[in-house]
Amino acid sequence: MKTAIVWFKTDLRITDNETLVKAISQNDTIIPVYCFEDSHFETTSFGFQKTGSFRAQFLIESLLDLDNSLRELGSGLLILKGKPEVEIPKMVKQYKAHRVYVKREVAFEEKQTESLVQTELWKLQCELLTFSTSTLYHAEDLPFSIKDIPDVFTNFRKKTEKDAVIRKSFDKPKKVNSPEISRPILPTIAALGIDEVTIDHRAVIQFKGGESEALKRLNHYFFETKSISKYKETRNGMIGADYSSKFSAWLALGCIAPRFIYSELKKYESQFGANESTYWLVFELLWRDYFRFMMKKQQNKIFLKSGIQNKDLSINKFDKALLQKWINGQTGVDFVDANMIELRLTGFMSNRGRQNVASYFCNDLKLDWRYGASYFEQQLIDYDVCSNWGNWAYLAGVGNDPRGNRYFNIEKQAADYDKNKAYRDLWLNH
Ligand SMILES: Cc1cc2nc3c(=O)[nH]c(=O)nc-3n(C[C@H](O)[C@H](O)[C@H](O)COP(=O)(O)OP(=O)(O)OC[C@H]3O[C@@H](n4cnc5c(N)ncnc54)[C@H](O)[C@@H]3O)c2cc1C
Repeated sequence: MKTAIVWFKTDLRITDNETLVKAISQNDTIIPVYCFEDSHFETTSFGFQKTGSFRAQFLIESLLDLDNSLRELGSGLLILKGKPEVEIPKMVKQYKAHRVYVKREVAFEEKQTESLVQTELWKLQCELLTFSTSTLYHAEDLPFSIKDIPDVFTNFRKKTEKDAVIRKSFDKPKKVNSPEISRPILPTIAALGIDEVTIDHRAVIQFKGGESEALKRLNHYFFETKSISKYKETRNGMIGADYSSKFSAWLALGCIAPRFIYSELKKYESQFGANESTYWLVFELLWRDYFRFMMKKQQNKIFLKSGIQNKDLSINKFDKALLQKWINGQTGVDFVDANMIELRLTGFMSNRGRQNVASYFCNDLKLDWRYGASYFEQQLIDYDVCSNWGNWAYLAGVGNDPRGNRYFNIEKQAADYDKNKAYRDLWLNH
């Protein structure tokens, strides 16, 4: 009898999950596991938690939902805690598994962990099979090899849209054969060393983790409200649930897959019509892909202060007092402050806000951009290593931007995007 472990990471879903589908079809029994990795709950060299309260809560909700979905299929989720290179091999021994199926990583630390696990598994003659499941376009279908991916997004997008095809998404499995798996006991937020918080009532949305919630959100944004049909006009908004999709948090933990979103979008378009707005969501998902492929191409260069451009940023320093003012929303620039308060109290900030506070951080405060990125890593409910560090590097002028420097004139931005100060009032005067 062939037994395999399915190691869930940031792919906490059963629909369109190739890793799970392949494991089921190639084995008699599978053991789904998730490991709370010690390193995810440490403090970074920049002094921030790697996982903050909002995301930790979202993660726990997502795992409970995944366990429920697996249970409906006859299985369940085993929860581990510690170092994956120790915990995963333990499971392999206990269940006499011959393979471990897992999502393929691209970022530096995640790849290191993957390789440590692989080394330990080889000692047990157990194979590690990895699957690329988090992008819209599959890396193997791109019209260039990873090393030749253009350093300018538009060049990447145009050729990819012309020459590559988006694969079909995988159906949800009908059954999962597993031995009896008892209901998991998840660590509490406190046990993870994190403070408990509740999302402020002014938040754009009360995010709740899990695939079921992701599907509800998609249904709401597409079919119930048809908000997607005006996305291009509303996407620069800052207040309310529907100016943008808010898919990011679920995408980041893999509660929903971009290819599944795409297939639902095609259904929507065939029913209600395609327009610039429906296309624009695909355009944004392509940005997400791009940052992931760039991480694969540039590897740890994206995390360096000098970035992929090897630029001298010696005038950008660490200044604890300025950093703290920025975090607290006490810079005195109301548009920046309102956004930073939203982030601190909800774990979310609009794309418009993110661009402005990051530009202000790098260009006006002249701080070392990596501290800003690291604070975002702690704080964002939708933190994604590639999108976060890629966007920050871009705004700091050391990433993938042909124009070199993205300076945002904050006053003008506030006047354009928060004309009657409704956003600033919401966060500064309530
Ligand atoms: C400094 C900075 C840091 C960021 N950090 C993150 C992060 O950690 N995680 C994250 O998911 N996004 C990040 N973004 C990108 C973007 O701000 C968010 O994806 C978006 O605001 C999420 O809201 P939404 O889902 O409603 O987006 P929508 O406008 O509805 O877009 C749909 C989806 O497209 C993708 N997307 C949109 N814009 C971008 C972009 N610029 N880069 C990459 N993907 C994009 C996201 O997956 C998003 O969910 C960052 C942007 C900046 C400027």
